[in-house]
Amino acid sequence: MIKLCDRLIAEIRRHAEGTYPHECCGLLVGRIEDGGRTRLVFETYPVENTFEEGERHHRMSIEPLDYARAERLYAKRGLGVVGNYHSHPDHPAVPSQFDLEHLAPWPTMSYVVVSVPGGKAADIRSWELEADRSRFREEEVIQVVVDGSEFGEQERTSDGNQK
Ligand SMILES: [Zn+2]
Repeated sequence: MIKLCDRLIAEIRRHAEGTYPHECCGLLVGRIEDGGRTRLVFETYPVENTFEEGERHHRMSIEPLDYARAERLYAKRGLGVVGNYHSHPDHPAVPSQFDLEHLAPWPTMSYVVVSVPGGKAADIRSWELEADRSRFREEEVIQVVVDGSEFGEQERTSDGNQK
């Protein structure tokens, strides 16, 4: 499953609406918990869709360098890239065959897809790869409300300074 706070869901929706009718994409930064079963997302890291112009309404591509940048930026907070997101303008929030073949080869990540019918973000669904990478399987999206709960907690315990 993937846990996201409502602020991040709003950010993804805004990004998806802003790039419509093109696909948007970004990385999800956080931590993997429960022995790999849960991805806890703390930040979104929007990146540019680098797919060739003219095809960005139904294709997207994330530069490997963007993964490296995000990893470097968040490593000192003990966080890493645990997933990515992209939008499907005028299509359902279901990964395509193209996504399966090109999106990313890591069964440890979450793949969030947001549908944007008519320019307005609608469904947000999340998927993970089967271990053999043959297909995507839908995973549960848990919306977390942040108010010093589990998200704030780990930020503070690292240096012991409770606010
Ligand atoms: Zn897609």
